[in-house]
Amino acid sequence: MAVPFTSRSTRYIPYLLSFAAVSVAAGTYYTRQPRISLDSARNAPKPALSFPGSMLFPKTLTVTKTEQINHDTKKITFRLPDGEVSVSGVPAGSAILTSHQPADGWLPVFRPYTPVSDPEERGTLQLLVKQYPNGCASTHLHSLTPGSTLTVRGPIPAYSYSSSSTPRDLVMIAGVNGTSDIVLKDELEGLEKQFPEGVQVTYCVSGPESKAEAADLSGRGRYRKGYINSEVVKEAVERVKQGGGWGDSKGTKVFICGPPAMQEAIAGKKGILGGEYGLVKKEIHMF
Ligand SMILES: Cc1cc2nc3c(=O)[nH]c(=O)nc-3n(C[C@H](O)[C@H](O)[C@H](O)COP(=O)(O)OP(=O)(O)OC[C@H]3O[C@@H](n4cnc5c(N)ncnc54)[C@H](O)[C@@H]3O)c2cc1C
Repeated sequence: MAVPFTSRSTRYIPYLLSFAAVSVAAGTYYTRQPRISLDSARNAPKPALSFPGSMLFPKTLTVTKTEQINHDTKKITFRLPDGEVSVSGVPAGSAILTSHQPADGWLPVFRPYTPVSDPEERGTLQLLVKQYPNGCASTHLHSLTPGSTLTVRGPIPAYSYSSSSTPRDLVMIAGVNGTSDIVLKDELEGLEKQFPEGVQVTYCVSGPESKAEAADLSGRGRYRKGYINSEVVKEAVERVKQGGGWGDSKGTKVFICGPPAMQEAIAGKKGILGGEYGLVKKEIHMF
């Protein structure tokens, strides 16, 4: 899930809560979502970006909308070059490479970003961009307004999720630095409401106990105090097992995005998943 993968900074949170979310999807949004499709074989949309063609020959996207999501993050919606006859061509989990020419520099600046829009949506692509202080590309992206254009290349091949005819179980673990960093929380909880049997979200919150936010976050069913530990992982695994199985042979996949220490604690050699559950590398995707 795209889960909001904005865990790359450790700054600007006035009260550094250490925060992580475990989300369990028994059967996924992609496999269970009925597709409303106007496409016939004749009318199939073209991918705007396709590797390696548009990695070599860039495409130009036009901004149609920008939304401030929190204090440092914007969602930017772009129109694809061929509009409604095309889809982005960027599989879920893959990134594109943006480039721009800074006014005070000789060389163009390239940075990867992972689209958060549905890969099958026609005509548009959305990026969720966190602005870093003096960050070259993120400041440029935040300066874009409707009508502005952006040069992109890609997609950069990464893990490619493909839907299957039978439901698959996914466990997604994301670590961020504070409650304001959970930029797609509404979307995540929207999916949970829409598919109560299929999507469950658990938040693990550790931070200064004296802060008002900490009290507010505890005592509610989906919230746990402290880091993700074997107990929380066990709960998630049990839910997946009820759905039919555990492990790559059953189609289960674990996605982990977060700081190295969290990755090591959960998926390292002595981590929770490798030890107790015996998951191997191909069953875990870290990014
Ligand atoms: C596969 C992939 C996908 C990604 N997807 C996303 C995404 O979807 N959304 C997203 O927001 N980000 C994403 N990123 C991160 C993104 O690519 C950029 O790294 C990020 O936006 C910062 O780039 P920047 O040019 O703004 O900052 P940079 O200019 O690279 O600077 C980063 C930070 O370092 C500091 N800094 C720079 N130079 C120095 C220096 N000499 N000394 C001290 N400090 C310095 C800057 O002040 C800034 O705070 C992704 C990264 C990868 C690898």
